[in-house]
Amino acid sequence: MIARVPSLAAAEVEQAVEAARRAFKSWSGLAAQERAKILRRWFELIVAHADDLAALMTAEQGKPLAEARGEVLYAASFIEWFAEEAKRVYGEVIPAPQADKRLVVLKQPVGVCAAITPWNFPAAMITRKAAPALAAGCVMIVKPAEQTPLTALALGVLAKEAGIPAGVLQIVTGEARTVGGVLTGSDVVRKLSFTGSTEVGRTLMAECAPTIKRLSLELGGNAPFIVFDDADLDAAVEGAIASKYRNAGQTCVCANRLYVQAGVFDAFAEKLAAKVAALPVGRGTEPGVQIGPLIDEAAVEKVESHLADALAKGARLVTGGQRHALGGLFFEPTVLAGATSDMRLAREETFGPVAPLFRFETEEEVIALANDTEFGLASYFYTENAKRAWRVAEALEYGMVGHNTGLISNEVAPFGGVKQSGLGREGSHHGIEEYLEVKYWCSALR
Ligand code: ADP
Repeated sequence: MIARVPSLAAAEVEQAVEAARRAFKSWSGLAAQERAKILRRWFELIVAHADDLAALMTAEQGKPLAEARGEVLYAASFIEWFAEEAKRVYGEVIPAPQADKRLVVLKQPVGVCAAITPWNFPAAMITRKAAPALAAGCVMIVKPAEQTPLTALALGVLAKEAGIPAGVLQIVTGEARTVGGVLTGSDVVRKLSFTGSTEVGRTLMAECAPTIKRLSLELGGNAPFIVFDDADLDAAVEGAIASKYRNAGQTCVCANRLYVQAGVFDAFAEKLAAKVAALPVGRGTEPGVQIGPLIDEAAVEKVESHLADALAKGARLVTGGQRHALGGLFFEPTVLAGATSDMRLAREETFGPVAPLFRFETEEEVIALANDTEFGLASYFYTENAKRAWRVAEALEYGMVGHNTGLISNEVAPFGGVKQSGLGREGSHHGIEEYLEVKYWCSALR
């Protein structure tokens, strides 16, 4: 344990909702320029405190310090972007079917919003929601994951220092069901934005049904990573490592299934295994470490059970495969060959440093395999053939597609999934729409 934080009772969360309701009027009444200026200051303060925030994040979450610092800057980028977007919320004037009518479309903030965020990106999952919300004129209550409240609270302190008024951005810590229950049950809260597992997302969606809340859901993934015979193999290996082993494999866009075409399978497996075996594992605070510990014992057990299931069904270890000699929550970066669709790791997110390699023969076959999942968040493929690139990008049933890259996320692009990976998009100019209502105003000139 590194710290204690308050565990709020339902009545205290209700007070937060009431404070948000009161703050909404004045915050939404500011000119977009003024909100933008305040958000810009928040961005600048986060950047100025990047090292301290990274240290806090590594302490509570475990990711290597350099990666934590990277997340802090990535988190800040959403605030910079949406501070700018605040000024570009345009309405419309529609040519009317009758000469004496004027048809106008106004964009107005949704109101009081809630966010429930996960532990794997303790800063970015908050700013990706709070920045567009505040930019649009909404106010937000954030419930961070129990595992990572400190980064969230630190962001809250900096928001206050930046001049974000009381009640506009509140961080409420505590037990998920108690805090979540008040937020989803309240009819003052008009929208919930959630990032986490599909299972919890489904529960929250049901809890929001009685009050018909707007929802943004960023849920689980089961990302395919496809390497065709005509790929640049070294680039594919590099991309696979970036996509699979970031945050020790604990991201919803991490490659979960690596499909490698028969002609390059052995060469790819060999190159990948050599690099993976050399990935430095250790405490996130040690220089040069690239793989930190997993978040908790349950996470390690899930990795172990996926591996045991795969090995029992005929998979073969190429490298790694067990808890790391360092003990604790460290796990060896692992590569597995001979993976097949009947294994648990083909259907569920492993959320750990395990790369299972599936062999395939044809493009048609691999598209069918890649799409054979209820998830549809991120997908990746490597090919040097431009025609194939278009065919594959269009055929993959995913919200996001990386071609010849394992890293796709940034503040200017729409992040989100299809199927049971979620609803809505975060980041980009689409991200702010999630926090805006469309009001149609019909005016007769009589
Ligand atoms: P993960 O697998 O990333 O831990 P979860 O979906 O379990 O994903 O958790 C994501 C967030 O959802 C966390 O902030 C967690 O506290 C919260 N959460 C989990 N269960 C509930 C619930 N029943 N009601 C409200 N929030 C919940």
